[in-house]
Amino acid sequence: MHKLSHILRLGWAYKFSRDCTLGYPPYQFTIEPTNICNLKCTFCPQSDPEHAAKRPRGALSIPDFSLFLRRVAEVRPGNRNLNLTLDGEPFCNRYFLQFIEMAISAGYFPIFAANATLLDHESAERLIAAGPFRVSIDFASNREIFGSIRGLSGHFNLVHDNLLYLMEQSRHIPGIHLDVHDIAPFTGVEPRESLAKMRSMFPAKLPGHIRFFSRKFHNFCGHLALEGRGDSYRRCPYPWTQLAVTYSGDCVACCRDTSGRTVLGNVFEQPLMSVWNGPKYREFRQNLIHRRPDLNAACAACDLPYSSDSRWKIPYMLRSLLGR
Ligand code: SF4
Repeated sequence: MHKLSHILRLGWAYKFSRDCTLGYPPYQFTIEPTNICNLKCTFCPQSDPEHAAKRPRGALSIPDFSLFLRRVAEVRPGNRNLNLTLDGEPFCNRYFLQFIEMAISAGYFPIFAANATLLDHESAERLIAAGPFRVSIDFASNREIFGSIRGLSGHFNLVHDNLLYLMEQSRHIPGIHLDVHDIAPFTGVEPRESLAKMRSMFPAKLPGHIRFFSRKFHNFCGHLALEGRGDSYRRCPYPWTQLAVTYSGDCVACCRDTSGRTVLGNVFEQPLMSVWNGPKYREFRQNLIHRRPDLNAACAACDLPYSSDSRWKIPYMLRSLLGR
């Protein structure tokens, strides 16, 4: 399907139609390399002692990733981005670099988030050789803050060193996008000041494909005790745009349903379109159309339908649909 025609069809279905059966495949795909993580960050569901009990721990295999790529190819989506992050740290799957190579040789543009503790020099070189891709990595402006919410002893230096190496090796390769996020604002520090401080820890002159941001934390599935949920309801676009798949093939509500609270089918067992337009997915959409996110297990405590941030603005939506 042509990218523009795919976007127009999903835009029409999301904005104007009340039909929950969609005449197009998912536009964005997420597949989980593993739900295992080597860290337990305070802002992440992984730090919940009950989290591991909600879904068995496991990792995507190479045959299952091949099957997933075949399922996606069958429906011919207009978009070639492929997100390889859901729960867990992707590098905890020993085949992760192979997944990246497979995705790129099948014509996809991989996007993933990593904590960079396992992104050693050898892995960075193999990744860069496979490229292009986009990776998002969290860091912080302050060693103590980083240690208190993310890393173990020594991780601040380890991640800094791995980031510097990745930047140095990829700075002349525009197809390799590196986004570094400052997580210090989670503790209440002033975001702009903190971002400037974090930026100063890296080379002054860097190309535009290496960027620095302040991380904004969301309570997508109610795992954080954040305040500020608004009253005005907006329909979440994810069930009209994205298919998020766990390492075992389960299709969950969205890329933030890391606990698998809502399972809508399994793409390793069924053709993709029969999940996307299956009874569970249709009912899931229907509940959101009827302003009843509370009827969807994953959405019940999610702040997205009641948020009023920039994600509802046209530039954000266009960036998310057209960007890499
Ligand atoms: S409302 Fe929240 S949990 Fe539900 S699909 Fe949207 S982002 Fe995911």
